[in-house]
Amino acid sequence: MIKKTNTISFYTLGCRLNQSETAVLIRSFEENSKFHVLPSNTAADVAVINTCTVTEKGDADTRKLINKINRLNSKTYIALIGCQSQIQKEELLKLPNVKLIVGNANKMDLSSIINDLNNNSETTINTPDIPRTPFKIAYAGIDKNHTRANIKIQDGCDFFCSYCEVPYARGRARSREFDDIIKEAKILSSSGHKEIVITGINVGLYKFKNYQLIDVVSALEQVQKIKRIRISSIELTTIPKDLLSKMYANSKVCRFLHIPLQSGSDDILKAMNRKYTFEQFNRFVCEAHNKVSDICIGTDIIVGFPGETEKHFNETFKNIENSSVDHFHVFSYSERRMAKSKFLKNNVKPEAIKKRSELLRDLAQKKSKNFKRSLLGKNMSVLIEQKKTDFWTGLTDNYVRVEISSSKDLTNQIVNVNLKEFKSQHMAGIII
Ligand code: SF4
Repeated sequence: MIKKTNTISFYTLGCRLNQSETAVLIRSFEENSKFHVLPSNTAADVAVINTCTVTEKGDADTRKLINKINRLNSKTYIALIGCQSQIQKEELLKLPNVKLIVGNANKMDLSSIINDLNNNSETTINTPDIPRTPFKIAYAGIDKNHTRANIKIQDGCDFFCSYCEVPYARGRARSREFDDIIKEAKILSSSGHKEIVITGINVGLYKFKNYQLIDVVSALEQVQKIKRIRISSIELTTIPKDLLSKMYANSKVCRFLHIPLQSGSDDILKAMNRKYTFEQFNRFVCEAHNKVSDICIGTDIIVGFPGETEKHFNETFKNIENSSVDHFHVFSYSERRMAKSKFLKNNVKPEAIKKRSELLRDLAQKKSKNFKRSLLGKNMSVLIEQKKTDFWTGLTDNYVRVEISSSKDLTNQIVNVNLKEFKSQHMAGIII
């Protein structure tokens, strides 16, 4: 039997939603079990990995992490939870010391599941179908290691983009009960979190009774100690029409939007089953920049989707180059076993994917530098995260990292800063 006084450590792979769920799980173990929670990368009796399966790399990272955990303690009882567990259970169970697999339906009950285990030599799979019902979260995800706290409002997706297996791993779209979100936000703010990041798989699909995403944002604005509200990522076709006006009118909503584009070619967007054209994306980005000064728009691009020719790629490159997107991440296409694109022909050669990715990454750097340069001399509020040797570092609401010198303790303070210097990855400023 696993002793109730054992030590446990947590590892998170993948997205912000996984991070937010791990933070809640840690709280549940701290409050509801006799396990002593140790930091990651220390030898513990039980190790929990919140897995990711969005790309091949996500899958491979689980294996690497398992090897690392086994090197720290060859007797560790390893529990795998989350997306990869939901759809690859049998294979995962063959990995060394993996004893427990819990999918997305029940992973938030992990402390009870582990407390109820009678025999740690037996292997257990707990991956039922994911119900499509509104949900509540029993614990607040207070994150002692981060200034910002994630708050999960939604899970699952109904869009079925052809390259993505998230709807299978996470289930169909469902939303958290409205009052439950606000309750957690109040606890997070009382514990010192000044910035709340709204997270989910497809947050724009939020719907509980008559409440939609914009109602969640409005209610969070009313929580006095919350000073900033950030939306983690949002699909173009789901952006509430009043969101930009809120950014313009209310300083609590961060002037930052991450809107995944995935390709700048309409042919490829169609093959990906994305529901918009590049023109529609670009129109929104222009509108956002016109309405909200200094807004930062970020996006993601997938390179090498099956059938992406040089012509498609050049179209993507030109369109992004000419757009007002301020920064973007580049991902190589990764074939997923449950995604429809697996059946498409004309796979792009790895050398072409490499070359195209490099070109886009150079462009991404240029764009990001240009955005930061445009902020030189401006005054911005910065939420300070931590001290690094001789300077403090934090983020502006529009997601620029800023370094500041000060002899005072600025931890978790929001300070007004004049941006004086541009240093490629970040900016330097002085408190005003
Ligand atoms: S919107 Fe598309 S890419 Fe995003 S989770 Fe849903 S199916 Fe996957």
